[in-house]
Amino acid sequence: MVDSVSAWLKVSELSKDTWRIEDAGMVSQYLLAGKEKALLIDAGWGIGDLHARVASLTSLPLTVINTHGHPDHTCGNYRFENVRIHQADVPLLKKNFSPKVRHDIMQRFKDQPLPEGFSEDAWVHAPLKRFAPFSGELSFDLGGRVVDVIETPGHTPGSVSLYDRKEKWLFTADNIMEGNTLLNLEGSMPLSIFMNSVNKLAAMENKVEALYPAHGRVALKPSTLSDMQKGVKKVLDGKLIGKPEKTSRGSGAVIRFDSCGIVYNDERRY
Ligand SMILES: [Zn+2]
Ligand SMILES: [Zn+2]
Repeated sequence: MVDSVSAWLKVSELSKDTWRIEDAGMVSQYLLAGKEKALLIDAGWGIGDLHARVASLTSLPLTVINTHGHPDHTCGNYRFENVRIHQADVPLLKKNFSPKVRHDIMQRFKDQPLPEGFSEDAWVHAPLKRFAPFSGELSFDLGGRVVDVIETPGHTPGSVSLYDRKEKWLFTADNIMEGNTLLNLEGSMPLSIFMNSVNKLAAMENKVEALYPAHGRVALKPSTLSDMQKGVKKVLDGKLIGKPEKTSRGSGAVIRFDSCGIVYNDERRY
């Protein structure tokens, strides 16, 4: 029997009490369990029943944290009761709960079979449930496992990364990945702001054992952090200049560093 849900939500166990859940083969959520609580990093598209999938892995009280407000990370929020998001990305989150926007998003999934029992109409009209915004320092104590939230604006104003002190893993979301970090989107921050965020993460490099981004290959080497740091600094200093390109996500200058890259707008460096 084909399990249509697992085609949407593919689970792999990264360690005891840590799972990666790949949504529609394009974005990863991560579930971290401690002794008393569990934390779900991002809510994905919410087309596959992520709530049921998480419940099959842990019965602990759950908090969801959105790494930022983009639709591939927040559309699934409606399936959960306890959601946190950085204050600066609340406007992006709200946009993803407009039926017009959700209808447009649904068009991109038209060519693939939707999970059994899935109601497109209910998804398009999913309510924006109560959520608790935050800014500044935040950590989650899951019971014998503390996860720190690190503000890393750039990709969006309210983008965060998460550091799991137990596994020494850094969940870098859309901030640092093997593919190009998009800093050319509507609402992205100037490159100099992203530089500050990268400096913060690179300063942690010696206590990080692996990076787990939301897109592309995992796990990445911690040295990706210093590759990004050196690269972005050169671009800011005018020693490297990206190649102008038009992509499906807008135009920008593309530049690759050793293990990562960025798309940015040259006129919005500072
Ligand atoms: Zn994003
Ligand atoms: Zn994303």
